[in-house]
Amino acid sequence: MTTHTTRMLIIGSGPAGLSAAIYGARAGLQPIVVQGLQPGGQLTITTDVENYPGFRDVIQGPWLMQEMQAQAEHVGTRMIWDTITSVDLSGPPFRAVGDSGDVYEGETLVIATGAAAKWLGVPGEQELSGKGVSACATCDGFFYRGKKVVVIGGGNTAVEEALYLTNHSQDVTLIHRRDSLRAEKILQDRLHAHPNIKVLWNKAVDHFVGGDTGLTGVALKDTVTGEMSVEPTDGAFVAIGHAPSTELFKDKLEVDAGGYLIVQPGTPKTAIPGVFACGDVMDHTYRQAVTAAGTGCMAALDAERFVAEREFQALKAG
Ligand code: FAD
Ligand code: NAP
Repeated sequence: MTTHTTRMLIIGSGPAGLSAAIYGARAGLQPIVVQGLQPGGQLTITTDVENYPGFRDVIQGPWLMQEMQAQAEHVGTRMIWDTITSVDLSGPPFRAVGDSGDVYEGETLVIATGAAAKWLGVPGEQELSGKGVSACATCDGFFYRGKKVVVIGGGNTAVEEALYLTNHSQDVTLIHRRDSLRAEKILQDRLHAHPNIKVLWNKAVDHFVGGDTGLTGVALKDTVTGEMSVEPTDGAFVAIGHAPSTELFKDKLEVDAGGYLIVQPGTPKTAIPGVFACGDVMDHTYRQAVTAAGTGCMAALDAERFVAEREFQALKAG
């Protein structure tokens, strides 16, 4: 067991955590980033990113995150591959324990744990997960080459997943519980223009159909008429959004009704001085890579001020 100490401990290596690291490192805080199970965060499970400023052409999510990590390391960040399993926020120093058994102590703590895919919670979903049911088209779409697939959801993620799946399948169906999509117009236009995608409106998944050999269909309930039907499919991609990863902070920090960490309005400050939250874990409204990066920057600037103030007080006290 090793104890790692730093002036800025960052949990999470998505755009929020890595942006905090870049600013923190340049301010001399020698940050440590504990990466978690998804190094690089959510953008590593997507393909095209065309709204992150600074790139005229479409870039790839995993590439962007590799570059962000390289930039963070270049200015002095230490990346550690571990997952935090518990935290003690009674500091400073704030303590976190990793899955590896290592202990991390930070004079400041930046929480950038982001969000994880939501599941429908209907019968058959868990049993058929990995046997036809997935929450990541870019990870699993390849297995459905030439087969029929459905995507469930109506937001940006669902539409992007449906479009992406046309690289592998000529038969893609988007299933949405309402009669209009939440996705941005540009994505909706691409979806509707695509000859290999059809949309089933007003349909909710009642359960997944299949057995030992895998998924064979999705049982649907019409949300207007209540009528039941079965849509045969080889693969089903659940794309109904993401829930904030706040389990670690249960009973330690306040969360809102959606489970997002509560911060002081317009800042990344939690109720505990020296503990900051940034990115999707505290943002139920915008949830974009660029906003996550922006609040990561804010967290680092506030962490730097917190450290400077403590040093000043210590000097004054002699
Ligand atoms: P995340 O990216 O979610 O990263 C969270 C990090 O925390 C991960 O590294 C994870 O491993 C780590 N972590 C979690 N728990 C622990 C723990 N216990 N210990 C240690 N580490 C932990 N946004 C755009 O702007 N443009 C797009 O084109 C776009 N496309 C998207 C496509 C998809 C399929 C998805 C799902 C999202 C997309 N988004 C896009 C949204 C964007 O990815 C998120 O807003 C952004 O990644 C949030 O960044 P974050 O750093 O807050 O969290
Ligand atoms: P989202 O915007 O929250 O959309 C979730 C979708 O799933 C909604 O259409 C919702 O239906 C549906 N849904 C939720 N729970 C459901 C359930 N139990 N059963 C059936 N359907 C359900 O989530 P997201 O699409 O993952 O996007 C999350 C954030 O990341 C957004 O801010 C988005 O802009 C961002 N993002 C951006 C990009 C991009 O910029 N290119 C790409 C992906 C994601 P209702 O509409 O009926 O509520």
